[in-house]
Amino acid sequence: MPYTDDISDLTPDQVLLKQEAHRFAAEVLRPTGAALDDLPPDQVIASGSPLWDAFKKAYRAGHHLRGFPPELGGASLGPLESHLVGEEFGWGNSGLSISLGVASMPFRFAAMSGHPDLMRELVMPFVEDTEGRYIGCWGATEPNHGSDLIIGGDNPDNHLDCSAFRDGDEWVIRGQKSSWVSNGTIATHTLAFLNVKPELGMQGIGVAVVPLNLPGVTKGPPTNKLGQRPLNQGEIFFDDVRIPAHYMLAEPPFTAGGLDNTLAGANAGMSSTFSGVARAAFEEALTYTQARIQGGVPISSHQLVQKRLFDMFMRVNASRALSRKANQRLQSGLPTVHYSMAAKVFATRTAFDVASDASELCGAMGMVKGVLVEALMRDARAALIEDGSNDTLSIAGAQHLLG
Ligand SMILES: Cc1cc2nc3c(=O)[nH]c(=O)nc-3n(C[C@H](O)[C@H](O)[C@H](O)COP(=O)(O)OP(=O)(O)OC[C@H]3O[C@@H](n4cnc5c(N)ncnc54)[C@H](O)[C@@H]3O)c2cc1C
Repeated sequence: MPYTDDISDLTPDQVLLKQEAHRFAAEVLRPTGAALDDLPPDQVIASGSPLWDAFKKAYRAGHHLRGFPPELGGASLGPLESHLVGEEFGWGNSGLSISLGVASMPFRFAAMSGHPDLMRELVMPFVEDTEGRYIGCWGATEPNHGSDLIIGGDNPDNHLDCSAFRDGDEWVIRGQKSSWVSNGTIATHTLAFLNVKPELGMQGIGVAVVPLNLPGVTKGPPTNKLGQRPLNQGEIFFDDVRIPAHYMLAEPPFTAGGLDNTLAGANAGMSSTFSGVARAAFEEALTYTQARIQGGVPISSHQLVQKRLFDMFMRVNASRALSRKANQRLQSGLPTVHYSMAAKVFATRTAFDVASDASELCGAMGMVKGVLVEALMRDARAALIEDGSNDTLSIAGAQHLLG
């Protein structure tokens, strides 16, 4: 690999962490991602699929506890460490990295509530899981609600359709989540955003953890999509599903602050993952252009190719710097969501542009199925919409700047 990643500002412990994450990315995530990319979505999740082996290896290595505190077995990663692991995992495979990241979401939020019954019933089984049996997802978007979740906050007539109402000691859930829910088809639990007070519009959201083996839950088929194909996605339907009252983790007014906190974490994570995707594409281009002989010389000897390579190097490093900043801001306690949004928009755009340039430099080879840059370009394309379209996030970010 001709590009040596810069580790000059890392402590010896951080270098070790990065090396360990890189080893997992190179040995598990990248080969599993390549094998799954070519499969139809139902075979990606079929029993015997390499997906399950990757999940098992990740849980056995404790990667499912990345966001958990040390007393629950988590690594308690600092901001730079979070970026380092996220970048390596993204370098390995973005779809699998996101699948593993979102798998912990309902359990992390349940742990934050600290409710003793939730700790016993949900959190500890997840923490002790070494087989990948407990898989979470985030059920926010719906067939009729996507970007308006992020920038529709001040319209009282616009609310989610999937709703919950209180009935004694239980909440009853009715409605559906969209086919974009990551891990939707394979998840055992969801962190569901539910319309609890319609008169408050998008501020009337309640957040509940919902086991997906309850009576009344059904799922759609896995979604077939362009990029991040190893990432399972699919609809979830709720037909009067009853959960105990303590499974409702947060009730309205779920102010913009609540959604902002969720997005701040998710967008910062996306920026690290897609800094890794951009780096992977750059490395491929650097290797290929030195190996490819055309007209008797390596194509890397042409000045225009050199200019393109340098431009890629520059953008990869800018993306990494902004992602590190977003992660630092996330743990600082300061208002942060606009930094996370900036980093997500920049990193995913950079990943797409760099993967596209890498594909261009590979000539016809860049179009071939099974060649890494082709998959990286598709994966990055999906990221421009994921966790909020880049346009929507830019508008929301600007609104934060304008106060
Ligand atoms: C790979 C992937 C993973 C995902 N994972 C999850 C998940 O785990 N959980 C989940 O709940 N959802 C998930 N999503 C859904 C994702 O959050 C939505 O797709 C996204 O928020 C956009 O919503 P939409 O697709 O409904 O597009 P729409 O909201 O219909 O938007 C379509 C286009 O219109 C533009 N647009 C819309 N409104 C405005 C406006 N007011 N001003 C300017 N432009 C506007 C948008 O920018 C976009 O380009 C995922 C999506 C993808 C692609």
